[in-house]
Amino acid sequence: MVQSFKARLLIAFLATGLLFVLIGVQVDDRAREFATTALRVAAAIEKKERAVRVQSDLKAVESAQRAYLITGNYSELEKYIALQPDLHRARHELLQLVGETQPELLQTLERQINERLAILAEVLAVYRTAGPADAAALVASGRGAAAMDAVDHTIAELVARSDADFTTLTARMSDVSRELRLSIPASLFACTLFLGAVLFTVFREQKQRITTEAELQDTAQTLASSIAEMRQITHDANQLTELSELLQSCLNLDEAREGLRGKLSTLLPGLGGRLALINASQSTVAIGAHWGQHGLLAESIFLPDDCWAIRRGRPFPAGSHPEGFVCRHVHFPNPDEPDATYVCIPLAAQGEVLGVLTLDAPRLITPAERELALAAASHVGLALANLRLQQTLRTQSIKDPLTGLFNRRYLEASLEREVNGAIRRRSALSVLMVDMDHFKQVNDTHGHEAGDAVLAQLGALLRSACRSEDVVCRYGGEEFAIVLTDATLEAAQRRAEAIRAAVEQMEVEHRGRMLGPFSVSVGVSVFPLNGSTPQDLMRHADAALYQAKRSGRNRVVLAEAEA
Ligand code: GH3
Ligand code: MG
Ligand code: MG
Repeated sequence: MVQSFKARLLIAFLATGLLFVLIGVQVDDRAREFATTALRVAAAIEKKERAVRVQSDLKAVESAQRAYLITGNYSELEKYIALQPDLHRARHELLQLVGETQPELLQTLERQINERLAILAEVLAVYRTAGPADAAALVASGRGAAAMDAVDHTIAELVARSDADFTTLTARMSDVSRELRLSIPASLFACTLFLGAVLFTVFREQKQRITTEAELQDTAQTLASSIAEMRQITHDANQLTELSELLQSCLNLDEAREGLRGKLSTLLPGLGGRLALINASQSTVAIGAHWGQHGLLAESIFLPDDCWAIRRGRPFPAGSHPEGFVCRHVHFPNPDEPDATYVCIPLAAQGEVLGVLTLDAPRLITPAERELALAAASHVGLALANLRLQQTLRTQSIKDPLTGLFNRRYLEASLEREVNGAIRRRSALSVLMVDMDHFKQVNDTHGHEAGDAVLAQLGALLRSACRSEDVVCRYGGEEFAIVLTDATLEAAQRRAEAIRAAVEQMEVEHRGRMLGPFSVSVGVSVFPLNGSTPQDLMRHADAALYQAKRSGRNRVVLAEAEA
């Protein structure tokens, strides 16, 4: 049964009050009984005294009468008369005291006293009328003495009864007083026990309440910290999602690197970080981005084997401190930051390690930070793998695998851009169409593989003959197109001539045999002379090339200006 603390306290105090009242009633009852018994004892004593008084008064009256009879002295007669009212009063008082309780005995006594008094009066009357001899004879008859004996006997009975009452009542009084003497300390003891029990209960309740309150407070605190933790987890999860989304939107590795620097430093505040990526040939690891204060020094370029995390494909160290082994690319421990710790987390996807995320702090890195860093690293690893794949695909889609030059698709896109740039800058731009002469014969004579080798070497030659800003493409088969930015007709012609001459000198070694000589025919068109669209320029360059072939090959022909 669940009751409120206040209600139970009230019940306990009411019970205590009730107990006190019961004890009070009991004590009062005893005390009253004691008092009434005492009164009754007093009454018994008084009854006895009055009975004895009546007896002695009667005896005094008797002796006064007797003295008068013997002496004839009137003063004795007067005394006899004067004592009568005293006797009467004593009788009256005794009657008042005992009349109700012992009416028969008292009636007997009254009758006997009256009889005795009547005999006394009779003797006096005889004395007066008949003389002393008759009176003496009447006295000697013994009636008077018998009557007096009867009175004495009744008085003795009364006294005996009073004594008996006295004995019973005093015994009762001593019982009651003993009961009082015992019951008061016993009641007080019981009260103290009861109060003690009540107080004990109150204190225990209070203690329980304090404990419960403390437990409640603890629970509230735990709840608050759980909520804060939940908030932090949600916040981290949101940050991770955002990081992942941002990474997915990155177009290339450079963009991702820049973004990661900012994002990781806010995701892991208080930690310094370095993002290092393994190069394509897997030979070196280079730091691409770093942020925050560093608890330790680190190399900016290192070998993959210098990092235990890259070697093992697992975070290192596993605990908060490196156990004997330390990555060679960090200088640990740092004498300036003796409490610094670090962790390397491999950035991996599909089992391939692409780089490493190194985090450090001038203190212990907490397990929570480590967890968050691991989660972030898995996102980063995936994103890096995606970006690498995209980059490879992109390269494949714009590059010719045999020569490493741009392909026709790229030429068309870039020519459009270059022409627009030339229009904006009001500068010149030239297009060279280069075609191998009689290339079919190379294939026919030495085989397709030899033809490929020749094409590859020609591609390298063309690339080296041009500036880096020029666009050199394999247009298709043994045909190449070159866009020379900022090149006037004269400059383009010079370059074309130089290429033609260089090809004449080209020698190709294939399977131990020297192939050659080779030659190319070149058609040249120029913006804005031959038109202002990519199509115009290509068409004119093509026409010029056709012209060069027709004129005997191994030559450079300039496109004719538009009419
Ligand atoms: P012309 O001087 O008129 O240009 O004569 P040509 O033999 O060079 O011209 P043609 O167009 O008749 O022949 C081109 C040859 O180039 C046909 C084809 O077999 C060869 N060819 C095209 N692409 C490749 C390639 O990737 N590798 C090799 N080995 N040969 C190729
Ligand atoms: Mg050809
Ligand atoms: Mg051709």
